Amino acid sequence: MEKTGVLYAGKAKTVHTTADRDLMVLEFRNDTSAFDGERIEQLANKGRVNNLFNAFVMQKLQGAGIETHFVKTLSDHESLVRNLKMLPVECVVRNRAAGSLVRRLGVEEGQELNPPIFEFFLKNDALHDPMVNDFHIETFGWASKDQIAQMKDLTFKVNEVLKSLFGQGDLILVDYKLEFGVFDGRVILGDEFSPDGCRLWDAKTMEKMDKDRFRQGLGNVVESYMEVGRRIGVEF
Ligand code: UDP
Repeated sequence: MEKTGVLYAGKAKTVHTTADRDLMVLEFRNDTSAFDGERIEQLANKGRVNNLFNAFVMQKLQGAGIETHFVKTLSDHESLVRNLKMLPVECVVRNRAAGSLVRRLGVEEGQELNPPIFEFFLKNDALHDPMVNDFHIETFGWASKDQIAQMKDLTFKVNEVLKSLFGQGDLILVDYKLEFGVFDGRVILGDEFSPDGCRLWDAKTMEKMDKDRFRQGLGNVVESYMEVGRRIGVEF
């Protein structure tokens, strides 16, 4: 599938148009950003690792009956996806306390959250992605009541599939962020799922194996992503 132009270049991925308006090419770059793009570095091999990691997870989710935009990988660092009309919110589920939840509420990192916590954030760099709730989303027209319900339902379905997938690899899925879009009137999972957008801890040592290694300067970032991938069956 030929790329015809750049639709959007984000912090870690570039979205390319194709001759088919229903299809796009997602390019996973080596760029890694943290703190709202304040810190950006190139990490060798990360684009390839995240592309293959994402393809594997998206296929697992599809196998579990969760519709995603993923079509197929095109190259080491590119995948073909369906062109969704993205809903401008991020959906976060937390199984353990970490990150902004700990900063915001002063709870202890690692505390188990039962039931898991769901949060919406508005995608808006200038406003630093503020947390919003169902009322903001409906009233400002970012998504309909029904779409909000579908995003929540799908995000929790993903939790069941991925908690078990990572659990088999002796990993704790601490939290993760998903983005959804609309295709043919249906709410479908878009964006990506990789260690850039979730937290994964080794179940025995509690070692961080996700993007917090980059955020906290712990080193071996891509090596950890690959270790996580190998444990769940990704072939790099
Ligand atoms: N996350 C993300 N992109 C964002 C914000 C958060 O992928 O723009 C992910 C993040 O990696 C973590 C989860 O969503 O797995 C919850 O993030 P949190 O709200 O704790 O924010 P952070 O501590 O990452 O600023």
